[in-house]
Amino acid sequence: MKKHCILLMAANPKGINRSALDREVRCIQDELDRGGHRHCFDFQTRWAAEPLDSLREVRKLQPTVLHFAGRGEASGLVFQDADGRPQVVSAEAIAEVLESAGATVRLALLIACFSEAQAHALLEHVDCVVGVRGDISPAASRSFAIGFYGGLSDGASVAVAFRQGRAAMKLEAASACLELLVRNGVDAERFTLTDEPKVPPCPVCNKDTLKVHSQSGNKLFLVCESCFKSVKITHDGSVVLKVLVAGAATIAGIEALDYVHAHWADWLDVILSA
Ligand SMILES: [Zn+2]
Repeated sequence: MKKHCILLMAANPKGINRSALDREVRCIQDELDRGGHRHCFDFQTRWAAEPLDSLREVRKLQPTVLHFAGRGEASGLVFQDADGRPQVVSAEAIAEVLESAGATVRLALLIACFSEAQAHALLEHVDCVVGVRGDISPAASRSFAIGFYGGLSDGASVAVAFRQGRAAMKLEAASACLELLVRNGVDAERFTLTDEPKVPPCPVCNKDTLKVHSQSGNKLFLVCESCFKSVKITHDGSVVLKVLVAGAATIAGIEALDYVHAHWADWLDVILSA
């Protein structure tokens, strides 16, 4: 299973408080780690973002989520130049980055003041965009991020995670007018980033009744609702995946390997991320 890359670009040109951005980024990482689907995400941050970095990093990382954190103005998002001075990037420029290199980007968050117009401009290229009407304080943007990413990493849809972000702002007595823009034909209530691979048939009775019971320490435990055998899939070092069936002999080495490669390859990331 491919992880969804969340690329957060933070611009902190001279005059911007870096520690507030630091704290926000740390909160996002904590929320993603805390959620039940942390294996679904690869959180990447890029600091001191210069305008060309957006093109380079989107091209390189192929993110699913593009998050801009920093300052905004009515004319665009504020990146920084090589000397750390503010440099405004227009919505059209970001839209062209997405059009030319951002086919993987499905969700964009522009958590910066006055980003609503930019958010509308991006909607042609991504399924959902979060923008800000008016201004937003560091506390509000951090609270929103905690609620939003906590929801996403617990399997909530983008629409539900957005509402949880707003709830988190209220709980912290922070206020800002955030908007979730949704492209025509997209259902944000059903748009999640935590889809797990399909569970293969039971290796004992061959019925589609194997259910994930739990996961710990690189082991995935499953129980078959037809034959009631329990099945343990383990990742042995970095070399071999093994399958063990309780109450029966281990499936013979070569068969187990064939079975695992044929049926469990998509689960490798899930098993490894425990
Ligand atoms: Zn079975």
